[in-house]
Amino acid sequence: MTGSVSIPPQLKAQVEEHLEPLILSDEKLRDISQRFLKEMDKGLGKSTHHRASVKMLPTFVRATPDGTEKGDFLALDLGGTNFRVLRVQVMEHAVKKMDSQICPIPQEIMVGRGTQLFDHIAACMSEFLDSQNLKGETLPLGFTFSFPCEQKEIDKSILIRWTKGFNCSGVEGKDVVKLLKEAIHRRRDFNIGSVAMVNDTVGTMMSCGYPNSHCEIAIIIGTGTNACYMEDMKNVQRVQGEDGQMCINTEWGGFGDDGSLDDFLTEFDREIDRTSINRGVHTFEKMISGMYLGDIVRLVLKKLTEDKLLFKGKVSDALCTAGKFETKFISDIEKPDTKIGIENTRKILTDLKLDFDTVDLHVVHLVCQTISKRSAHLCAAALATIANRIRENRGLERLKSTVGVDGTVYRKHPTFSEELQKKVKTLAPECELTFLISEDGSGKGAALVTAVAERLARQSRL
Ligand code: BGC
Ligand code: MG
Repeated sequence: MTGSVSIPPQLKAQVEEHLEPLILSDEKLRDISQRFLKEMDKGLGKSTHHRASVKMLPTFVRATPDGTEKGDFLALDLGGTNFRVLRVQVMEHAVKKMDSQICPIPQEIMVGRGTQLFDHIAACMSEFLDSQNLKGETLPLGFTFSFPCEQKEIDKSILIRWTKGFNCSGVEGKDVVKLLKEAIHRRRDFNIGSVAMVNDTVGTMMSCGYPNSHCEIAIIIGTGTNACYMEDMKNVQRVQGEDGQMCINTEWGGFGDDGSLDDFLTEFDREIDRTSINRGVHTFEKMISGMYLGDIVRLVLKKLTEDKLLFKGKVSDALCTAGKFETKFISDIEKPDTKIGIENTRKILTDLKLDFDTVDLHVVHLVCQTISKRSAHLCAAALATIANRIRENRGLERLKSTVGVDGTVYRKHPTFSEELQKKVKTLAPECELTFLISEDGSGKGAALVTAVAERLARQSRL
């Protein structure tokens, strides 16, 4: 099915030479996995944390729901493709999204002043509460905030840095809960109850499979990428206590920021970083997530064209412009039905004003496949490391576990999930992982975390 059979051998060899650095053998992936394990230890260690690129952030989530939680909650979900406000009902052994509203965040707010961002969020909340006739109520709030935060308590969360498309001034180093509450107070038209801050990975882990099964790992492969998992408290050196477990937000997107992946970076990765709004950080994320995949493909295609291996050696303005080759094009081009895939490729290349022939269609397909596979394999290497670590923590010969997953890349790309799962099996053969796609994990998960926090607070008062 792959287009490669239709590429003449000599051309194929030349194209493959360009793609070679983007193909990661199992041996290389094992090497990456070992490096990742070292970074995890560094992030957890008391004296090493400050220089760790994989931050391994404590989340103060120690317990999964026990089924007795209930109540009505508001949830916010900021940091993915859309900003959303939701109303979520937690019932005994069930959680239900009642209603939700998407509020677009204009580009100028994403990179504007922090107060402006939080005023915008509060305005969306106000509008939603109006539409739900809930203005008079004081509902507890679960806030899914999908950025690296140093969490001090469940309701105190300091933003370490913005990632993805966000870069608002005056928020890094500040408590996000406080900024949100201040924005709500400025409005004076509604109130909120207790707040729980949740990373999207944590929301996904908490809600996935609830109430039938528990996840102890969750991964996101969307605009950004990240994973969380349940770690033994005795290994979480930065939080007091030896007993039980705590969910750790790995922030694996930062892997490589200290140079530990330099020998795997290609000229394309370096260019992506150079032109990003957060240079030098989130190296691993920039090789994997939806925010960057389209542009990586674009840069490879551009290079092949400049070397006269594509499009008769003629680039177009669009091919030279960041963001013009969208990540979703990769899914369209890689459609398992070859006929549809080829048709999609024609349309995309035509829109990009490129002068292509039939062979070019197959080369473009091969490039997309190489980039999406690399992304899936890198995730697999890190995920295999986490699964093996849990297995060893528990002294088990074999681990059976469930992984909650969310994110547009994982959901929408036709073969990504298959590639990822296959490679995890190869790299962690003693771990039998079941992958569960989360439905509304960010919203439901945030409500569940809030509900569990309220239950624990209630119990400790008794
Ligand atoms: C953020 C993480 C988040 C991930 C997925 C990354 O850029 O740093 O906190 O979980 O994106 O949304
Ligand atoms: Mg999300």
